[in-house]
Amino acid sequence: MIQKVKSYDPSNGDLIGEVPATSAEDIELTVLKAKTAAKHWRGLSLNNRLSTIQNAYSAAEKSVHNLAELLSKEMGKDIRRSTSEVQGTILGGPYIASNVVAALRSKTIDGSTLEYKALGVAAIISPWNYPLAMANNLIIPALLAGNSVIWKPSEETPLIAQAFFDIIKTGLPTGLLQLIHGDGEQGRILVESDINIIGFTGSQATGKDIMSRAASSLKRLVMELGGNDPMIVMKDANIEAAARFAVASSFENAGQMCISTERIYVDETIADEFEQAVVTIAAQYTIGPWNMDGVNIGPIINSRQHAKIIEHIRDAIEKGSRLLLGNTDNPKFYIKPTVIADMTSDMRIEQEETFGPVVCISRYSDINQAIARSNNSSYGLGAVVFGGIDAHTVADQLEAGMIGVNQGVGGSGDVPWVGAKHSGFGFHGSPEGHRQFAQVRVVNR
Ligand code: NAD
Repeated sequence: MIQKVKSYDPSNGDLIGEVPATSAEDIELTVLKAKTAAKHWRGLSLNNRLSTIQNAYSAAEKSVHNLAELLSKEMGKDIRRSTSEVQGTILGGPYIASNVVAALRSKTIDGSTLEYKALGVAAIISPWNYPLAMANNLIIPALLAGNSVIWKPSEETPLIAQAFFDIIKTGLPTGLLQLIHGDGEQGRILVESDINIIGFTGSQATGKDIMSRAASSLKRLVMELGGNDPMIVMKDANIEAAARFAVASSFENAGQMCISTERIYVDETIADEFEQAVVTIAAQYTIGPWNMDGVNIGPIINSRQHAKIIEHIRDAIEKGSRLLLGNTDNPKFYIKPTVIADMTSDMRIEQEETFGPVVCISRYSDINQAIARSNNSSYGLGAVVFGGIDAHTVADQLEAGMIGVNQGVGGSGDVPWVGAKHSGFGFHGSPEGHRQFAQVRVVNR
């Protein structure tokens, strides 16, 4: 079991800090403390819980800049994107909290009262690509439902998690929100401990492991897993708009985004023009560290992930792809903006989540082929179609939790962030999403 969690600057590999990893004994103690904290917290009124959370988040507002800088240094995204994530987390926290409380108020249906009560202790296990946002989306509803929370952030981003936690916890009752550090081993111990619900955001493989370990004690699960999002570009699409979206969505967060566009199916009659537009736009992207002017593709989180992306590109080339931009000779820490054409179904880049700044294009002659290939995946997070009026009919046939027609996926406000198929079950956002962290009770008085 690791003793320390070391944090490295992904743009140069330098060690930037470390935190002690939580031992198995300390995880057990953390769970005991969480149970004690939950007993008092669940007895408070919803309004009381709401004001406590809102005050804790308001007190963090002055730290936005420092947190954003730390997030950039540790995770690699540029300062504009980090600032937006930190602001969304801290300034958006009170907004999410008030929506959660509205969803948890008791209501009466046909003479029965529905009450939303605490479950006990919630474990929130989060990834590194949006290290604050992904955790926060689950921590807030879990707390407001009256649970105490044990948060296990990714071992890639322990410092930003610790810094955020240190600020927020000062406004909360002792033991209500606790942090444990470590890798998959600490995660597994937490999953198997005496907790009541697990809110997990991360990869499909980890999701399966968590589900199997949670089964014997029937723990509740909220699973937000990976994606391999398709995009279909129909012959009557606005080619410039589709190309702009394709590049932006493939390159966002250096491609390390669950809803990034991973594979594109374009009508063969417009394919030349689309590919050209994509290459022109993609060539304008710049790789570099978080504090370099004009950078819009940061480093890849670690060498394992860097090697995997290069392997996917190599495999595609060996199996007949045309490389329209970029090459396999990428600098250490970065992947240059890459565009691949003639992707086929036997390529890893089509079958797996690549999680890198690569636009992958394939031509189709029949829209039904494009729909079949889009759906030929265990994933089903997002899917996008660009085209004229028929785009809506195509959208109806796509197997995904979030669909975009001539735009990206995911709504603003309090709508679900939701996957279909093996991209997960359970979700965050929306009254239904918030209520997953509560036990509904039907009371007839
Ligand atoms: P990961 O699954 O490797 O790790 C996620 C978290 O789980 C980390 O904290 C890790 O330490 C922990 N963990 C690892 N093994 C564990 C185990 N056996 N038991 C318990 N915990 C364990 O994922 P990652 O590389 O950090 O994140 C990238 C993945 O997350 C991608 O697949 C991405 O698509 C997905 N993701 C999904 C969403 C969504 O909303 N659906 C959002 C962001 C990221």
